[in-house]
Amino acid sequence: MHITIIYTICQCVIDKIAIALYSTISIKVRLQFFITGGFNMELFWFKGKNTFPNGIHPHEHKDTGEKEVRRIPFAPEVILPLSANIGKASIPCVKKGDSVYRGQKIAEADGYMSVPIHASVTGTVKDIALAPSPDGGMARAIILATSLTSVQTVDYSALRAIDEMSKAELIKAIQETGMVGLGGAGFPTHVKANLPEGHKVKTILVNGCECEPFLTTDQRVMLESLPELLLGIKIVMKCTGAEKAIIGLEDNKRDVYDAIKNILPKDGPISATLMPTKYPQGCEKMLVTALLNIEIPAGQIPSSIGVGIFNVTTLAQLGKLVPSKNGLIERVITVSGPGVARPGNYVVPLGTPLKFILEHCGWSGTAEYVVLGGPMMGKTVSSLDAPITKTASGILAFDKTLADLKKNEREYPCITCGACVSVCPMRLNPSTLGLLAKKERYEEMRDNYNLDLCIKCGSCTFICPSNIPILSLIQTAQEINKTKK
Ligand code: SF4
Ligand code: SF4
Repeated sequence: MHITIIYTICQCVIDKIAIALYSTISIKVRLQFFITGGFNMELFWFKGKNTFPNGIHPHEHKDTGEKEVRRIPFAPEVILPLSANIGKASIPCVKKGDSVYRGQKIAEADGYMSVPIHASVTGTVKDIALAPSPDGGMARAIILATSLTSVQTVDYSALRAIDEMSKAELIKAIQETGMVGLGGAGFPTHVKANLPEGHKVKTILVNGCECEPFLTTDQRVMLESLPELLLGIKIVMKCTGAEKAIIGLEDNKRDVYDAIKNILPKDGPISATLMPTKYPQGCEKMLVTALLNIEIPAGQIPSSIGVGIFNVTTLAQLGKLVPSKNGLIERVITVSGPGVARPGNYVVPLGTPLKFILEHCGWSGTAEYVVLGGPMMGKTVSSLDAPITKTASGILAFDKTLADLKKNEREYPCITCGACVSVCPMRLNPSTLGLLAKKERYEEMRDNYNLDLCIKCGSCTFICPSNIPILSLIQTAQEINKTKK
């Protein structure tokens, strides 16, 4: 009898504690519990130190990270599209038949939301005409025929001291380099460094996550161009008035972390933080949550919450180009994938055709085997005659086409397992979004299920055991809603 009473009292106390604990959990988590039929333990207990809730762990394939960057020879012809970034296209300042030298400005910026273009080879302007574009189709471009006398070396010795330049002079100098976000976004860097009226940045986050499988460009740039990276950080700190900068690295780049720690003073304004390796850590929203434990409100830019975010390769190039008064004419890319005989990281003159690069790396095949960028967020290319542009960080060549890979992946009905919900970093319900998309209820997806918050990371598609192409359903819905606006 006594034992029964004691047992009942204990049971009541345990229940009370459980209810009290449960009531402290956010509504979103409780909803997730009901949707998925179980807790995502990471989200339930805590989001973890220096990370964000949810996400996935695809196989890394980062073996090129151990190889030093090498140069690729000049292609006989380079294609420099006039519109290869967010903003307005550039205006050519050369004409067909002109001789140009490597580094010469060949197109002017068309206003503030635009950047100039510089010749990546010494040679002759073959034409200013439509040419294959990496986005598919054709785009207006300056086509240069490379001279046999063109040399690769560029003089990056400093001609001016950053400390002696005013903020306005720095912003102008950044625009003159033609720099845009090299991490893939393509947003003009001078616009990002020049804060909108009323915005104040306290912290710069330097994005060195490189969370996409295969890509190791940022890793090599950090290891081989550390002084330039630190100078680039100082430039954007001066432009934005930020007091401190944090270099965010995933813990699969411990070599970079050790190298940075070795040269940074302990209590200086620039520091480095390691984060657990997880995809999509490199997305801006995830990075802010992981490093600062705050969120960028929907529809707002990072500077609205006092944060500036820049990619490491962008800043390393800034640290090279601004002091030496050079323009952006080349970049480092990762060339990898099972079809490539000589994978690695290469310095490539902008405008070099993809086919030329791939052949140099020991691969010959057709466009449907090739992905520009990482396997999660990159795109299959439509033509190998398309050139490498400022925003491309990698070329991956596979031994099977995407169509071949998917041949055996029959799509099954949703089994409401909740896996997609538990990995979505934006805490959306990809399963419901997919179901609604199939019923073409696109406006309902936008109005009731936060369709526009999707960052297109593809984690839901990656994890789905029923092979439902959730991301492409979401992308279709977003495109159709855009045409209805
Ligand atoms: S693609 Fe969109 S819905 Fe799917 S996991 Fe990423 S953010 Fe979530
Ligand atoms: S869409 Fe796929 S991952 Fe999501 S609940 Fe359905 S079966 Fe599971």
